[in-house]
Amino acid sequence: MQTLRSYLAGEWRAAAGPERLLTDPVTGEAAARLGGELGGELGGELGGGPGGGPDLGAALSWGRERGGAALRALDFRSRGELVSRLAGALREHRPEFRSLARAYGATDADARHDVDGGVSTLAYYGRLGTSSLPPSSFLLDGGEEPLSRGGGFSGRHLLVPRRGIAVQINAYNFPGWGPLEKLGPALLAGVPTLVKPATRTAALTCRIVERLLESGELPEGCLQLLVGSAGDLLDHLGGQDTVLFTGSAETGNTVRAHPRVVERSVRVNIEADSLNAAVLGPDACPGTPAREALVGEVRREIAVKAGQKCTAIRRVLAPAAEADRLAEEIGAALREIRVGDPRDPDTEMGPLVDEEAAAAAREGLRRLAPETEVVAEGAVPEDASGAFFPPVALRLRPDARPDAVHRVEIFGPVVTVLPYRDEEDAAAACRAGGGSLVTSVFSEDAAFLGRFTRAVAPWNGRVMTMSGRGLRETTGHGIAVPQLVHGGPGRAGGGEELGGLRALRPFLHRCAVQGDPALLAECFPEGGAAGTDG
Ligand code: NAP
Repeated sequence: MQTLRSYLAGEWRAAAGPERLLTDPVTGEAAARLGGELGGELGGELGGGPGGGPDLGAALSWGRERGGAALRALDFRSRGELVSRLAGALREHRPEFRSLARAYGATDADARHDVDGGVSTLAYYGRLGTSSLPPSSFLLDGGEEPLSRGGGFSGRHLLVPRRGIAVQINAYNFPGWGPLEKLGPALLAGVPTLVKPATRTAALTCRIVERLLESGELPEGCLQLLVGSAGDLLDHLGGQDTVLFTGSAETGNTVRAHPRVVERSVRVNIEADSLNAAVLGPDACPGTPAREALVGEVRREIAVKAGQKCTAIRRVLAPAAEADRLAEEIGAALREIRVGDPRDPDTEMGPLVDEEAAAAAREGLRRLAPETEVVAEGAVPEDASGAFFPPVALRLRPDARPDAVHRVEIFGPVVTVLPYRDEEDAAAACRAGGGSLVTSVFSEDAAFLGRFTRAVAPWNGRVMTMSGRGLRETTGHGIAVPQLVHGGPGRAGGGEELGGLRALRPFLHRCAVQGDPALLAECFPEGGAAGTDG
């Protein structure tokens, strides 16, 4: 059984607190353990935190000082090479990572999504660094801004690495992709990282961090790992640090409102929950490619990771005359999903991460029940553990006013079909989610697709238009690609990640510099410098 330990200030340490076992949601067997050891028993200098835990203030300082200095000794391009070497080092361990993913209920496809997706996102940032960033310690952002009539005084914007540490607080559903998609941009920018994985699925993140450290590529201090509770971590943050939080809106709000975060203006990026939508255009009658694509996409979104995906489709909006028929089509597609043991190659959908997640999904159904009715419920294997949850298609009750369906995120394989009267009604329903990561619009009508996208864009991080065109090569509704921004306004947390070089922004400081134009050019030569806006 894997014992999960933190890696803080250069030493492996027992997780603070009593012993906790992480069990396989299918077999119920313990797959990993953490805690229950004496914090000091591994030796080292970090004892002394509250409750016998490590001194997290000292760990953060160690990262800022050692890791930050080592990364800033490299230029942007060399850091790109470092990130590429790290991705290369992880690549050979992907089979091991995928097998660890089984212990949280991932099918082979889910594990590839999480593990291979994470490694290729890291590799993408390595390539971006070597191909698009200069061998320089700073970046120039935008051009020269003349500030005087005679042309003898001007200004421009400089981007430099912040002198803090990036603290990742991650959600349980992507223990592979989550830490890697954030690590790549931070390293590229020149900022060290401390990763705090969600405890339920921390085993995979721990092994990835171990493999990264073993590679010998990372200078000391660039990467630390905190297993178990966050403890008093946030109390030690400073104004040069960045918190990257992914998880529920509720915890995100706690992090955002933490007194130290507020007092020191700690930069915070929040990726929270989201009620994403798929919209059937008024023209998408049965048999059209757009309509078939929507049903296929909903089926995929429910099956992948059993709907435990922040981008998963939770609401389907259909023209009122088509809603019932579409709900039946979706219901039939969901009934076909083969639910079972993720180790069985025929299984399409595994269990939820644990029984607590299944109980939360049941509670979500209970909250939606006054305004929805069940169209279809798939089957789970007989004698399955309590972590299994069937795929469920719901529709709005005929006379119900939608309210909870726009507020309650069921983090599992559940989708609700809602009718709309007209285009404006459909856009209003999308917006009622309060801010989403992604909305997909399915139609063959380019004018409608353009109008609708503009109507919902301010409430979405990404809008995917789907018609017969682009169908064969689509990356899919739920996939966050590193080239495009990932995040959403309002309820979705208001954060932004990925998006090519834009991902470096949380880790860079923009400083305006002024002076004689020739002097500025001497101090800060162009040298192929790039900004992070494009
Ligand atoms: P969660 O319960 O909010 O936990 C997220 C992280 O916060 C975990 O690492 C957790 O640690 C930590 N945490 C809990 N309380 C904390 C506190 N007081 N101070 C500091 N850290 C604290 O979320 P989850 O259940 O793991 O993840 C599911 C949610 O994440 C869903 O709502 C989903 O929509 C969302 N999500 C969003 C995105 C996105 O990109 N927008 C991606 C993935 C998931 P412990 O595990 O140790 O409690």
